[in-house]
Amino acid sequence: MAQDLLETLEANRADCVGMAANMIGVNKRIITFDNEGTYMVMFNPEIVKQSGPYLTEEGCLSLTGTRKTKRFRSIKVRYQNEKFQVRLKTFTGWTAQIIQHEIDHCEGIII
Ligand SMILES: [Zn+2]
Repeated sequence: MAQDLLETLEANRADCVGMAANMIGVNKRIITFDNEGTYMVMFNPEIVKQSGPYLTEEGCLSLTGTRKTKRFRSIKVRYQNEKFQVRLKTFTGWTAQIIQHEIDHCEGIII
């Protein structure tokens, strides 16, 4: 399943930096995204801490155009990796923004 998602992301890499499983019709909490040049997969990602709110505009494969949204500069995420080991990691900046966007997809929120 994660492999499928990665392939879909790669196929759309020109206009997409992340994907959530439910974007391709699978109702599971899996996301993949571009982490500074390497694709990363997370199972059951959850933001446990966030700081530095700011307003920005985002586009999405599921929408046309961009929309305003509030994001956080720094987030701490708890997730399971490909081996289903629980991990805790802090992300900042652009990568953090992508993750927040994809986790929103898992919650059924589009931006
Ligand atoms: Zn999106």
